[in-house]
Amino acid sequence: MPLQLLKRPYRGFAPVKESALFNRRQSIYRSSSRRSSSGLSVVAMLLILALAGAGAYFLLRDMSGPAVSLSPSGAGRVGLAQPLTLDVSDKSGVQSVEVTVKRGEKSMTVFQQTFPTLEKSQKVTFNLKDTRLPEGAFELEVRAVDGSYAGFGRGNATTLNMPMVLDSQPPRIAVKTGPPALYRGGSGLIVYTVSEDVEKTGVRVGKLFFPGYKQDNGSYVCLFPFPISMSTGDFLPDIMARDMAGNETSSRLLVRALNRNYRADTLNIPDSFLNFKAGELAQLCPEESTPLAQYLCSNNKVRMGNDEKLLEVAADPANNSPKFLWSGRFQRLPRSAVKANFGDFRTYVDGDRQKIDEQTHMGLDLASVAHAEVPAAQAGRVIWVDYLGIHGHMILIDHGLGLMTQYSHLSEYGVQVGETVKAGQIIGRTGTSGLAGGDHLHFGVLVGGVPVQPLEWLDATWVKNNITSRMNISF
Ligand SMILES: [Zn+2]
Repeated sequence: MPLQLLKRPYRGFAPVKESALFNRRQSIYRSSSRRSSSGLSVVAMLLILALAGAGAYFLLRDMSGPAVSLSPSGAGRVGLAQPLTLDVSDKSGVQSVEVTVKRGEKSMTVFQQTFPTLEKSQKVTFNLKDTRLPEGAFELEVRAVDGSYAGFGRGNATTLNMPMVLDSQPPRIAVKTGPPALYRGGSGLIVYTVSEDVEKTGVRVGKLFFPGYKQDNGSYVCLFPFPISMSTGDFLPDIMARDMAGNETSSRLLVRALNRNYRADTLNIPDSFLNFKAGELAQLCPEESTPLAQYLCSNNKVRMGNDEKLLEVAADPANNSPKFLWSGRFQRLPRSAVKANFGDFRTYVDGDRQKIDEQTHMGLDLASVAHAEVPAAQAGRVIWVDYLGIHGHMILIDHGLGLMTQYSHLSEYGVQVGETVKAGQIIGRTGTSGLAGGDHLHFGVLVGGVPVQPLEWLDATWVKNNITSRMNISF
């Protein structure tokens, strides 16, 4: 096993096999002087063996130092407190890692570690907090040593010198649009610039985050909601940006938060409805045994899970186009009657008019004929075609910048995920799947996965005043 020569179980031991070969060669030489005729071939053979052994040793010997990579590598700009990670790997194991900061004549060791055991890879994290480096250029030197016998047992070393720039200045944000007016449950848009390249930027509303998307002119556009669950006093959005060096800035975003009152509604849940939906309810909540318990579980636990799923789908960058994919008017299900509005506060009562539940309705219920053709409200890209709990068979279309439309309770799909659709293109048919009593379309508009008032988006004047004209500012 010549490869084992490369390993060193205990530090300071000489390679065992090499010295054994050498000793044997000595004894053969001695015996060959006595038995010259047949001895010569033995000598030659053993010499070849010895050379082969030595050759194998040199061939398999670890001649190179560890592979080292630094992350984030982000254009060499780092902040003082930014965690930097080194991935060090070597086939003979990693013996030690040392990080030095150099600036002019000065140098300072910021990290040093000798590992007690030889692992093939090591991950170490450090920061530059203690260096008190001034802003500007410096050099980061990383020296990593492997556990091989090279260099008389000292191991192979890799030394990397990386030019870097210390950046401890957070980016500056300049909002270019006037304070947006947002009604409770509605949407708003801002255009802003950031003074440098960013890793993350957008608007925070409570625990929710809505990314800003960089446009061709270098500015950012951020679309965000005033969630219906918040009051005008709670709605305090922040705008933030974090640069490549990890420096973050955030400040309160100036908005006009306006209250909007929503309707109260009573929804009957008679036994006939529970019987009609029995099969689907049992599938949504198999852990419950009665249709009523299954209904309440669907309307609460399943609903909450579905809301989470919508946020998760919307948070996936793959589902978001960084530009608007549409222009012109949004359209609704043609020849339909509004059966329920966004924001309706629903009290659910049983057959005896006893209150059993309450929920806020998060879309527009539109009823036409049964199995009516459903047109896409706007041009976009289909990102979801699947069953989702209370929504039943559902389609989501991304329209860019975090804006999505939702089509629930369908009976038929006419599109596939990834497909680009035109405004008005038929994408499916209405139905009763999910928690729907009668055939209708639940039409939702989502901003970053949060349901917003669809009537704003169906109103061409509102869209012009609050969205498109605000994007066409020049500066
Ligand atoms: Zn609905």
